[in-house]
Amino acid sequence: MKHKTQEKCPFIGISANLITIETGSFIGRERAAVGDDYIQSVQQVGGVPLVLPMIKEQRLIEQQVEVIDGLLLSGGGDVSPLLYGEEPKRELGAICTDRDAYELELVHIAHRLGKPIFGICRGLQMLNVALGGSLYQDIAAALSTSFQHQSKAKPDEAIHTVAILPHTRLQSILNENMIITNSFHHQAIKDLAPGLIVNARTQDGLIEGIEGANDLFILGVQWHPELMIQKHSKMLKLFHAFVEAARKRRAT
Ligand code: MN
Repeated sequence: MKHKTQEKCPFIGISANLITIETGSFIGRERAAVGDDYIQSVQQVGGVPLVLPMIKEQRLIEQQVEVIDGLLLSGGGDVSPLLYGEEPKRELGAICTDRDAYELELVHIAHRLGKPIFGICRGLQMLNVALGGSLYQDIAAALSTSFQHQSKAKPDEAIHTVAILPHTRLQSILNENMIITNSFHHQAIKDLAPGLIVNARTQDGLIEGIEGANDLFILGVQWHPELMIQKHSKMLKLFHAFVEAARKRRAT
């Protein structure tokens, strides 16, 4: 009997955060961590989740990216405004320059190697900054919008509508013109990086989604689909499209 060769599933690297331990014997030490929702979302659509801990050595980061077939940039704190040529405003939140530097490298290498990239919340912002764009350091301070983007509701509660722009990759993935999403951000994209296009906006004009202008799979969303998949299963389509792009990349 012939053995059927089992197709290898694509490896999805998920960028980790650094969490300071607050209780127990190791108070003050740091832990590389990523929300389990990201891991489960990738697993549910057939990707092999791999947590990518932040490291500094460039040639080792290069090898991390070589191993994976797709890069998922997870959420987290603010991006340092120095990276887009601004001094910090009073309203800037906590930053982690080590994480910024690490994720900049991840994006640059993945982009150069033509590996699919999916950015969520801070991940979308990082993607834009890494490719040459800028951010509003604080939406409320920079814009007159009265919309609430920093939800006080539960993580899976959809609080605002998002218009999906026609003829975009996002539109073809979701097959919707309007969706409702959660929202946990106080920063947003100001100037879009070259090579990216806007694929989603809220009614106050804020950019809620971006994608690559060419064939390389680059997708970013400002909301948190991984926190919504139980209640709003269509959010899994985003992970599915990303993992399928990674599968295709793996086959090349
Ligand atoms: Mn929002």
